Amino acid sequence: MTARAFTPVRIGTLELKHRIVMGSMHLNLERTDDGGAALAQFYRERALGGADLIITGGAAVNREGAGGRTYALVNEPESTPALSRAVAAVHEAGGHLALQLFHAGRYAFEATFGLKPIAPSSVYSRFSRCEPEAMDEQQIQRTIADFAAGARRARELGFDAVEIMASEGYLINQFVSPLTNLRDDAWGGDAERRRRFPLAVLRAVRDAVGPDFPVIVRTSGADLVDGSSSDRELDDLAVALVGAGVDALNVGIGWHESSVPTVQALVPHGHWLAVARRVREAVRGAGFEAPVIASNRVNSIPLADEALARGDADLVAMARPFLADPRIVETSRAGRLELVNTCIGCNEACLDRSFGDEPVSCLVNPRAGRELEYPPIPLPALPASHEQAAPPASIDGPGQVAVVGAGPAGLQAAATLAAAGIRVDLFEAAGAIGGQFQLAGRVPGKADFLETIRYFENLLPGLGVRVVTGTHVEPSDLAGYAHVVVASGVLPRTVKLPGTDLGHVVDYRQAFAEPTAVGRRVAIIGAGGIAVDLAHLLAEADPEREITIMRRNGRIGEGIGPSTRWAVLAELRAAGVRTLTGVVYTRITADGVEITNAEGAPELVPGDTVILAAGQEPHVTLAEGLAREGIPHTVIGGARDASGLNAVRAFDDGLRAGTAV
Ligand code: SF4
Repeated sequence: MTARAFTPVRIGTLELKHRIVMGSMHLNLERTDDGGAALAQFYRERALGGADLIITGGAAVNREGAGGRTYALVNEPESTPALSRAVAAVHEAGGHLALQLFHAGRYAFEATFGLKPIAPSSVYSRFSRCEPEAMDEQQIQRTIADFAAGARRARELGFDAVEIMASEGYLINQFVSPLTNLRDDAWGGDAERRRRFPLAVLRAVRDAVGPDFPVIVRTSGADLVDGSSSDRELDDLAVALVGAGVDALNVGIGWHESSVPTVQALVPHGHWLAVARRVREAVRGAGFEAPVIASNRVNSIPLADEALARGDADLVAMARPFLADPRIVETSRAGRLELVNTCIGCNEACLDRSFGDEPVSCLVNPRAGRELEYPPIPLPALPASHEQAAPPASIDGPGQVAVVGAGPAGLQAAATLAAAGIRVDLFEAAGAIGGQFQLAGRVPGKADFLETIRYFENLLPGLGVRVVTGTHVEPSDLAGYAHVVVASGVLPRTVKLPGTDLGHVVDYRQAFAEPTAVGRRVAIIGAGGIAVDLAHLLAEADPEREITIMRRNGRIGEGIGPSTRWAVLAELRAAGVRTLTGVVYTRITADGVEITNAEGAPELVPGDTVILAAGQEPHVTLAEGLAREGIPHTVIGGARDASGLNAVRAFDDGLRAGTAV
């Protein structure tokens, strides 16, 4: 790293110690009935972990602008305790907190408060499935005043800055876009008139807070919706905002209605930095020095540092990486990158939840959002050993816990137990830890899953866990332990179909292990997340492959989170993978799989290789043996319940077991 990331920078009057911003995330903790305790602790830990400037989730400036029931309402007294508590917590921890002022416009849901969403024009939104009401002059003036009142309130509550949300297709962005602003009055028309609303909001906010209070605008660098604002128009807006006195621009990417993936794992790291660079060049070209913040698909400090050193931006905002690792700044600054718990871009416990009411958390850090419920895992004091621990020569007697299985559930359980001071032996039958993450890490766009394995490989020895790989344990091996956590995972579900014993039929594990041994024509029985991943892997390994995935019931990719599924399926379509649903299997033959298709017609799905990926069953052999021997144990993860198993639940099980034992 060049350490550019760790040089100081100013946003208006705000002096920051470094250039990494914790970006805005709605957490669904903003209006819980705990008075903001969980929210404050969430932010406190991030500030303690080195976040100097944290931007809150969107705080709606009025009810009709709220993105959901759980949004903070900055101008209503009921939100004051939680917001004040968050400010106090971050300040106590030495950080700064900016409040994001938010109005969803046509992305609001009528059901939230029974209010009809409003927008510049009545243009149907696929995201909220509503046709908003076009704002009249009075509504426009009132909304501008609400932004100003929210900013004033933020200053009164002790916030260090405000960020005006004007990106991601929300209200202000809707005024800027020719797609959603069809007005022919002074607030619509050409690009200059469509810029009038954001500039009016900015000026009203500036008037409300005074010249010395830092104001950031999250402005769109690319809408990624056909027919919306051009790059030139967005650059002109950025320049106009800076000219009107904004202290920093945070460059957002894409709308919720965009069909271009922006934050999914399959988007390459750093992909959007060029957009921030373009905006920055426009601002500099116009003679302004206001800092520009880049965001989206930057998940490590070294990558942010490279971007800063290259001059893509003056600061880099990262959001999800702070969910995955509250200490990412401090750990990275200390050069202990091997101990950073990296965000893998899955969206499963964060973005996918943020559109509902369930508190946001993190797949690889199930404690996120529940910092008051579960103790933290300490950073090992000494550099972690990279050497594999030798198998224990003997069991040291009572007080020790054995964890069997080093997939997600077992890894999390082992770390949580060790963090509580319990001596843990972790046994894994395979030659390496990681379980199904080892398979996932081979899938195009999922290489970051291997970062999770790297994290635990370094963390566990550092916490004193003895990691014993390549060792199959029987109940008799475990008799001396005070408790056994069984995280033995899953087995492929048995498929009862004539022909499964043929030589060209393999299960998904074999196909993952040796994709080159899979034939040119591939029939995959099953179409859940694993089958989709496998199809993706096989298609990339050989673009000429003819691949079909099929299932009896349900949708292709069922179980993949909503923010990711559409993007992954688009990739499959682009790779030419054929998908069939509603099929009835007849038998497997030497040529493929005979089915009756959804139209009721018989069909042979060609397959030089037929892959069984029709779900999973709990691997219960060990648990049954322990029960027979009367050895105290807890069964977690897929070994407990394989139905609908996903990694979020596996990590969560590990955390719970690690705390309960
Ligand atoms: Fe990142 Fe996934 Fe955690 Fe979200 S749930 S912060 S995408 S690792």
